[in-house]
Amino acid sequence: MMKAMEDQVVQEEPGYQDDEESFFQDIDLLQKHGIEPGFLTAFEYSEKRKMVFHISTGSQEFDKLLGGGIESMAITEAFGEFRTGKTQLSHTLCVTAQLPGPSGYTGGKTIFIDTENTFRPDRLRDIADRFNVDHEAVLDNVLYARAYTSEHQMELLDYVAAKFHEEAGIFKLLVQDFCMLTVLRISVPVFFHYIYLPSMITMQIIDSIMALFRVDFSGRGELAERQQKLAQMLSRLQKISEEYNVAVFVTNQMTADPGATMTFQADPKKPIGGHILAHASTTRISLRKGRGELRIAKIYDSPEMPENEATFAITAGGIGDAKE
Ligand code: ATP
Ligand code: MG
Repeated sequence: MMKAMEDQVVQEEPGYQDDEESFFQDIDLLQKHGIEPGFLTAFEYSEKRKMVFHISTGSQEFDKLLGGGIESMAITEAFGEFRTGKTQLSHTLCVTAQLPGPSGYTGGKTIFIDTENTFRPDRLRDIADRFNVDHEAVLDNVLYARAYTSEHQMELLDYVAAKFHEEAGIFKLLVQDFCMLTVLRISVPVFFHYIYLPSMITMQIIDSIMALFRVDFSGRGELAERQQKLAQMLSRLQKISEEYNVAVFVTNQMTADPGATMTFQADPKKPIGGHILAHASTTRISLRKGRGELRIAKIYDSPEMPENEATFAITAGGIGDAKE
């Protein structure tokens, strides 16, 4: 979770300077909200990590870049300028999260929190067509909420945490029932309406994480308060991802780095959210435009993946591979 200092120097909105002091204050803030939890032995932790699964982005190249897709028990952040595909990727994940994958993943439901009013169920239908799955089943497995303020966004997450708790209970019950049936050797005829029927919430999407914070705490003097609230939200997301083995995917906006021209940086734009978001996100992906429908994803920060790039396409059926 600790990263090199220079990686963490993210310039905020013009006029705001991150310095070493605020860096350590931010770490304190994260710890206060329980982001760095207690100890496990390395063995216990490795046992826990065996449950990690990956959700496909829809593009094999992109998945390869990410070591299989969007990882569970982690927060993955995708940031980029407008039209780079953040919302299209969010929509695609709603569908691919429902498809059975390798290593025992059976498919699951998604919770989608929309802060920019850009969620379109019709896009899910188009994407479902590409994967040959039933529209109704796909739409039924996505729990959607529009957030209007950062406060509201937080309340929705409280609800989500409760929902996870409840679903985990249902799942345990189902497993119990199934065991009893097996013991009694009762065979029950099962008629499938759909190809699959996921029972668990396995994905949590926020598109986008910072938009409402930016509006609600727009004054220069409000930045500290904003980061405090953001830390609280991210701590909640981190707990959801780890306790319930959920893949958390958030999108983020960018801002011009006012110092970039002075230091001749190759990439003058930065994701917003400062150290707080930089620390809480397990994997950060930067997205940029290529020719036509092509987009390039780059690993910006990951605990185990190299800083490679992958090219993908935005198609009618969602995120896909670039045609040769
Ligand atoms: P913003 O920062 O404005 O939210 P974004 O990164 O979320 O941008 P998206 O909305 O994901 O961007 O991507 C927009 C791109 O997706 C556009 O280039 C658009 O042409 C493409 N797109 C949207 N719908 C379709 C579709 N049905 N078929 C093909 N391409 C589409
Ligand atoms: Mg968008």
